[in-house]
Amino acid sequence: MHDTIATVYELSAPGRAGMDLPASDVPASDLPAEEVRADCGLPELSQLDVVRHYLALSQRNFGVDSGFYPLGSCTMKFNPKVNEAIARMPGFSEAHPLQPQETVQGNLALMFELQRWLAEIGGFAGVSLQPSAGAHGEFTGLLMMRAFHRERGDIKRTRIIIPDSAHGTNPASTTMAGFTAVEVPSNGRGNIDLEAVRAACNDTLAGIMITNPNTLGLFEERIGEVVELVHACGGLVYGDGANLNAVVGIVRPGDLGFDVMHYNLHKTFSTPHGGGGPGSGPVGASARLRDFLPGPVVEMANDPNGPRYRLAMPVKSIGRVSPFCGNFGMFVRAYAYIRQHGAAGLRANSEHAVLNANYLRVKLRDAFKVPFERINMHEFVCRGAVDGAGVRALDVSKRLLDYGFHPPTNYFPLIVPEALMIEPTETESKPTLDAFVEAMTAITKEARSDPAQVKAAPHRTPVRRLDEVKAARELVLSDRAALSLGPLPGPAPQAGEGSGPGGGRRRRDE
Ligand SMILES: *Cc1c(COP(=O)(O)O)cnc(C)c1O
Repeated sequence: MHDTIATVYELSAPGRAGMDLPASDVPASDLPAEEVRADCGLPELSQLDVVRHYLALSQRNFGVDSGFYPLGSCTMKFNPKVNEAIARMPGFSEAHPLQPQETVQGNLALMFELQRWLAEIGGFAGVSLQPSAGAHGEFTGLLMMRAFHRERGDIKRTRIIIPDSAHGTNPASTTMAGFTAVEVPSNGRGNIDLEAVRAACNDTLAGIMITNPNTLGLFEERIGEVVELVHACGGLVYGDGANLNAVVGIVRPGDLGFDVMHYNLHKTFSTPHGGGGPGSGPVGASARLRDFLPGPVVEMANDPNGPRYRLAMPVKSIGRVSPFCGNFGMFVRAYAYIRQHGAAGLRANSEHAVLNANYLRVKLRDAFKVPFERINMHEFVCRGAVDGAGVRALDVSKRLLDYGFHPPTNYFPLIVPEALMIEPTETESKPTLDAFVEAMTAITKEARSDPAQVKAAPHRTPVRRLDEVKAARELVLSDRAALSLGPLPGPAPQAGEGSGPGGGRRRRDE
């Protein structure tokens, strides 16, 4: 397949238009002539040209709306369309963040309720909706922990324990917040090594960052003792809430003794992941940390004559971490999701996510070795390489694309060699899971009979195997620059695909 899609600039024809602008109803400006750009170089296209162009582009990408997307740790949940319909209601989508609070009481009520529901789900005393992503929530929570220790004059607490299975954002946030990350190993059951935690506990410990269930998809069986050890030496417990989808309505991190945790609204509450933003990663805090939450948060006012809801800063707040109130459109979608399912529905979703993941583990464990043979939670990790055939986890993943499935997460967590981390989520049906098992099994057979075929995959996608390092280092974001790429590469993987002479140069449409 060598299909290229013409850019909007190539499709452009002078005089074509997709819309009519109304006649100006404001006085002409008297800008100096040299400030006026008569020709912005914008493409001219009919509405049909535009629709076909963007539809074609969208179909060259893989999304949760186009196929099974079992990307472990990332929880690629289906985004229910009712969320979008509600988020587009003008009262939500057209509110201005600087509007007087009396005029947006409904929106503040929505934020207030969402804070309350997230607090209830997590078992926390308070929630701030400010942070814009899970990683941003981590950084926020760590700043709150720092503020807590500083307020008590306990300034020698500079170390944060992080298990070796942790997501890379954990040590990164820790370092950005001015702490030192202390790595502790996992034990033979895939849980944190309790003795290593004990050894790291002293009066220089600021706290621990822990994901539960962890990134192997395993519940931390001794979480109670871990929390006790850290608290006993004066440390705080940060919960990485990325895996909350496994336990909503079943376990509340606050009840386990967690002091602060982020919620990834795009992983647990069905908001879109959205290509880097806008996202949302609210933070929940226990009673002793709630006053440090970033603000503004929404409070219920007790003045009977004034508006019912108002924005306020928590008394010892670390300040703002986002402009205005955070990404409001995401709050609307998460609110819609929680409201639609209710307490029983949220719990059922978690139970189905766990059931689906265990079903896949058991179906796949003969073909792909599972290092920790335990009942898993919403995801599990297996060894993705086909031994003896020289086929690696990456090759299996690329071949899956030819079968119409998005690959699982590759090579994470780092402690499992050739890791494939599989997370089906709750919305996938049994026929879809069975088709995935069939594809995975077929690939192991191909790997033995025709390894070259698997190692050169994918063969059926618009873009073949790329040099991923180069693609990341020399990112070509411009439609215009893509022109100079020429035809898409053929079946043989080559280094250097994905960037061309135009890469990195500024173009007018960037
Ligand atoms: C996704 C993830 C994060 C980071 O969350 P973002 O919302 O992507 O910033 C942190 N920890 C774990 C375990 C994750 O899976």
